[in-house]
Amino acid sequence: MPASPGSGRYFVRVDLPNTPSVEARVEAVAQTQLSTELAKGEARVRTVEHLLAALVARGIDRARIEIDGPEVPLLDGSAKAWIDAIDEVGLADSESLAFAPIDAPVWVRDGDAFVAAVPSDELRFSYGIDFKALPIGNQWYSWSPHREDFGEQIAPARTFGLAEDVDRLRADGLIRGGSLENALVCDLDRWLNPPLRFANEPVRHKILDLVGDLSLLGTIPVAHFIAYKASHRLHVQLTQRLRERGLSQV
Ligand SMILES: [Zn+2]
Repeated sequence: MPASPGSGRYFVRVDLPNTPSVEARVEAVAQTQLSTELAKGEARVRTVEHLLAALVARGIDRARIEIDGPEVPLLDGSAKAWIDAIDEVGLADSESLAFAPIDAPVWVRDGDAFVAAVPSDELRFSYGIDFKALPIGNQWYSWSPHREDFGEQIAPARTFGLAEDVDRLRADGLIRGGSLENALVCDLDRWLNPPLRFANEPVRHKILDLVGDLSLLGTIPVAHFIAYKASHRLHVQLTQRLRERGLSQV
C-alpha cells in the first residue's frame, strides 16, 4: 500500500489486535536464522528479505505492507512475483533517493566468511559461495544495478538448499511451508528439481538476500559490497555497522 512521505517501509500485522506495526529497519531485527525476522512488541514478521529487496531495488522508499500472519509468503523462493507486481502497478512518484557514498571500508567477518562495503563510484554487489555439494560448488557473481536490471538478473533467483538440511530443518519443525515448489534443492551430486533459471542461480540468490538485508538501512549507500560465504547474520551485522556510522537516510 502507498505510505506517507517519511514513513519508510513498514509491516502491519492486520491479523493481530490493534494491528501493530514494525518498521523494516535494522533496529527491528529480532533474529537471522534461515531468514531475517523483524519484531516490535507483539508484531513479528519473518522472511522479509525478498520483498524488501524488490522494493528497494525499484526505488520504493516508503510502503505500508499489510500482512495477516508472521511470515511473508515464500512464493517460488525468489523475488520475481514481487517485482512483477510492482512493475504492473507502477510507482506513484519517482522521487530520487539520496544515496550517500561511504568514504572508508566497513566490514564484518566470521572465520573465512565476510561481508565488506568498499568505497566505490557506483553501487555494486559481488558475492562468492563455496559448497561441497557438486551442483553448487564454487560460484562468484558481480552485479551492478546500473548495468543489469534487478528484475531480470537477480529477482528470479530462488532460495536454494541441500536436501539433507531440508530434512533436518523439517524434523526440527522449521520450514513447514518449504518444499520443492519454493526452493531449489540438491543433494551432493545433482539438483532434485531442475531446470535452473541461471547456471549460477544460487549465488544470484545470495545477492538478492544481501540487497534485502541492506534495505533495512532505508537506502543502500553507494559502495562495492563484497561478500563470501556470508549469511543473513553477517549481512545484518554489516548493516548495523553502517547504521552506527550514520550511512543511511530516509
Ligand atoms: Zn533468500
